[in-house]
Amino acid sequence: MHLRPVLASLPAYVPGRTVPGAVKLASNESPYPALPHVVSRIAEAANGINRYPDNGAVALTEALAAKYGVSPERVAVGCGSVSLCTQLVQAVADADEEVMFAWRSFEAYPILSAISGASSVQVPLKDYVHDLDSMAEHITGKTRLIFVCNPNNPTGTAVTREALLAFLRRVPDDVTVALDEAYREYVRDPEVADGLTLLDAHPNLIVLRTFSKAYGLAGLRVGYAVASDPLLASALRQTQVPFSISSLAQAAALASLEPEAETQLLERVAGVVGERDRVQGELAAMGYDIPPSQSNFVWFDLGERTAAWAAGCEERGVIVRAFAGQGARVTISSADENDRFLAAAAALI
Ligand code: PMP
Repeated sequence: MHLRPVLASLPAYVPGRTVPGAVKLASNESPYPALPHVVSRIAEAANGINRYPDNGAVALTEALAAKYGVSPERVAVGCGSVSLCTQLVQAVADADEEVMFAWRSFEAYPILSAISGASSVQVPLKDYVHDLDSMAEHITGKTRLIFVCNPNNPTGTAVTREALLAFLRRVPDDVTVALDEAYREYVRDPEVADGLTLLDAHPNLIVLRTFSKAYGLAGLRVGYAVASDPLLASALRQTQVPFSISSLAQAAALASLEPEAETQLLERVAGVVGERDRVQGELAAMGYDIPPSQSNFVWFDLGERTAAWAAGCEERGVIVRAFAGQGARVTISSADENDRFLAAAAALI
């Protein structure tokens, strides 16, 4: 059998570990079960699953457009925002062209770029934050797409509005900048721009968001993009795998945008943000030096100690996400789960 050689270079899939009785703080999920209202909408939609979903996700696209005050032509819905990242690369980069992102950042960027055939240009973080000056300096005639993950997964750090605007001024008009705001709802620092407010002044900008984190729908797979230029949103529709946003996902996302449901979901987010501040404070008091997080996770720069530290957490019933030789990412969860993690962290300092 012939397979493309690039496949051999991709990291093997490691199934998420489930250890009976342990708490899972490894995937930046919401710790809360779905709202009953959302579950009942999913159940209603389940009656119609003999039919294909609406391939254009028209109702959801319109609801998002209304929420943000943009025309529906500028919105594209995807099977999770990771799918929109893939579609973007496919839409803008040919095989010999370049996709740039910071490193370490969201682990899907190098994989989906490699599969598309584009080259990855990885620019090291500086003090755990995007080094936007260095990224601007790495732009070449072949650069087609730049991901800016804000806040950054896995470090939790965010770039300021000022830094981002200075960077955008340096990016040529024909290079697309994708601001990946998967964790936007957890941002509280007023110096960090909401990417949607920058779209009107930047025709090459697109903002990616998801229902997986703050809206608690990770298992259903639905994300969206809002583009400055409707042509880019329509390019995302062209590169979409047909019917990949299920009818259940569309129904759940729509139900989550209804005012009462959305208010409850955003109250949960506020609770997680409160827990983030508490966890960060307790970790600092223990002597951990962690970068300030604007997301629902925190980063531990542990270098060679990472594997042993993560194993120590697991022995104490807490599963974290370890990046061997580099560090560990730990999701902020409910107060009890966070307490369990804090007890493990205190034992392992
Ligand atoms: N972007 C970032 C930065 C992420 O961390 C994730 C999820 N880990 C995604 C995108 C993708 O999320 P989803 O596909 O579930 O919308």
